[in-house]
Amino acid sequence: CGIVGYIGQREAWPIVLKGLKRLEYRGYDSAGIALINKDDLNIYKKAGKVKELEDFAEGKDLTGTVGMGHTRWATHGAPSDRNSHPHTSDNGKLSIVHNGIIENYATLKEELESRGHEFKSDTDTEVLIHLIEEIYKKDNVDLLEAVRLSLHEVNGAYAIVVMDEDQPDQLIAARKGSPMVIGVGEGEYFIASDATPIVEYTKNVIYLNDNEIAYVTREELLIKRLDNVVQTPYVHELELKL
Ligand code: GLU
Repeated sequence: CGIVGYIGQREAWPIVLKGLKRLEYRGYDSAGIALINKDDLNIYKKAGKVKELEDFAEGKDLTGTVGMGHTRWATHGAPSDRNSHPHTSDNGKLSIVHNGIIENYATLKEELESRGHEFKSDTDTEVLIHLIEEIYKKDNVDLLEAVRLSLHEVNGAYAIVVMDEDQPDQLIAARKGSPMVIGVGEGEYFIASDATPIVEYTKNVIYLNDNEIAYVTREELLIKRLDNVVQTPYVHELELKL
């Protein structure tokens, strides 16, 4: 029930892991983190506590300055390692974390399976990454546009972050009905379900609104509405103390 993302100059793993721990109070049954190390995507996910994910990942490749993490409160599919997020596309290059529910996932899943997509989990979430993959390839658009177009196909509530192994210098985030905050640093951005994972790094945050999608690189933040109108983000200064 929480999301943390990071893109910047520092190692993403410790920031994302600590962020997930700060979000633990929201409740969850599984946890997972995806990292891109140069152009290799590594995903670690486990049913259970964040601590179990941490133990599981010990000694593995945890390098990379881009990453995203998730704590899951299962709605579709039992709490298990394979149903934990992040989920990936057929080619294994795209990955997604999602909080919320995709209400029309059953119809979408049937259509995607009939077109040859292979599902690796029982979640509603996984349809979204296959849909993004399909639009990305078929329409020959950039990732931001592929995510934007695919969100027009889904009903439900979501906060998502999407990464592409082939475009390791960007994160795409979007929300409708589930909270999402973007922390603005210097040469780095933080994404989280609420400000608690962000406050120790920056006071400057942008609250993503419903039906908004964000393209985030180390140097740039672009926010659009799902109808493709570019938004001027309002930067709030947090007064929270740790
Ligand atoms: N509906 C998704 C699932 O069951 C996401 C649940 C959540 O918000 O953590 O995997």
